[in-house]
Amino acid sequence: MTKSIFSAPHFNDEAAAYAYVEARLWPNGRVCPHCGVVDKSGALKAKGDRIGLYKCYACRKPFTVKIGTIFEKSHIQMRDWLYAIHMICSSKKGVSANQLHRTLGITLKSAWFMGHRIREALRSGELAPMGGGGSVVEVDETFIGRKQGVEVKQGVKHKHAVLTLVQRGGSARSFHVDEVTKAEILPIVRENLAQESHVMTDEAARYAKLGNEFAKHDAVDHSRGEYGYTDRKTGAKVNINTVEGYYSIFKRGMKGVYQHCGEKHLHRYLAEFDFRYSNRSRLGVEDQERAARALAGVVGKRLTYRRPDERTA
Ligand SMILES: [Zn+2]
Repeated sequence: MTKSIFSAPHFNDEAAAYAYVEARLWPNGRVCPHCGVVDKSGALKAKGDRIGLYKCYACRKPFTVKIGTIFEKSHIQMRDWLYAIHMICSSKKGVSANQLHRTLGITLKSAWFMGHRIREALRSGELAPMGGGGSVVEVDETFIGRKQGVEVKQGVKHKHAVLTLVQRGGSARSFHVDEVTKAEILPIVRENLAQESHVMTDEAARYAKLGNEFAKHDAVDHSRGEYGYTDRKTGAKVNINTVEGYYSIFKRGMKGVYQHCGEKHLHRYLAEFDFRYSNRSRLGVEDQERAARALAGVVGKRLTYRRPDERTA
C-alpha cells in the first residue's frame, strides 16, 4: 500500500506545519510584518516556547507567519489548516463545512469560517487578459440557487446568474453577475479577454457584435438544436462544451456539497471551482502542487467580515 499523503509531518506535527508554511511564505528569510525587515529576527522562547513566534531585531516586535494571512487570529492548528487546504484542493467537488467539522474535530462554525478563508486564498488576483494568440475562449452563463426575497417563477429571474470564461486548454474565470444582460456581461468580457482571442458563445443577442471586438467570434445556435460544428474554412471546432463541462462540475459540487450558499459567498465558491479548474491535472498540476499554490495565496486575503453573532474561528 502506498503511504497516504496525510502521513507527512506537516499534517501531524504543529512545529513541522509551521516550518512548512514558513518555508513557503518566507523563501528568502523571515519577514517582519511590522517593519518589513527581512531575515533579522530570532525565535522568541520567553512565552512558554510558542511555536512559530519570533522577535524582530529591528523594531523589537513579536510576530508569527500567520500575521497578514487567512490564518491570522485563528485558533485552529496550523496542521489542520494544511489538511483542510489539501482536502479542498484535491476534491473535485469541494469539501463541506460539516466534513471539516467532523474530520478535524473543530466546531461547525470554525469549519465554516475555515472553508471561506481558504476559498479566499484560492481567489485569483490575475488581471492579465485571458486568451490571445488566436486561442479559443468559450463564454457562457448559468443560473444557480435562489435569490432571497424573490418569488420563484418560471424562468431564471429568481436564481443567481454566473458568467464564466474558459480558455480551451487553459484557465477559467467566473463572475457572479446581477443579470444576464449586455450591460452587465460585455464589460467583463472586454476586460478579461485579449483582443486576439477567438470567442465562442451561444447565439444570444447580447454576444452578437463580439466579432467586431475580437479576432473572431463564432456562435452555436442551441435554439435550432445545434450543439457544435466544424468551421469548414478554418477547421475550428465551434462549440461551448468546455464551459458547459465546467458548469457541470460546479453544479454537482454546489448541489452535493454546498447546499446552502448565501448570495454574498457565491463569488468565493466560484473562486474555488475556478482555482481547481485552472490548476487541474490535465495542465500538469497534481494535488500536492495545487495545495502548494493555494498556500501561496493565503497572504493578504484575511477575511474581515464577521457576522455579529459569530466569534472569530
Ligand atoms: Zn520589525
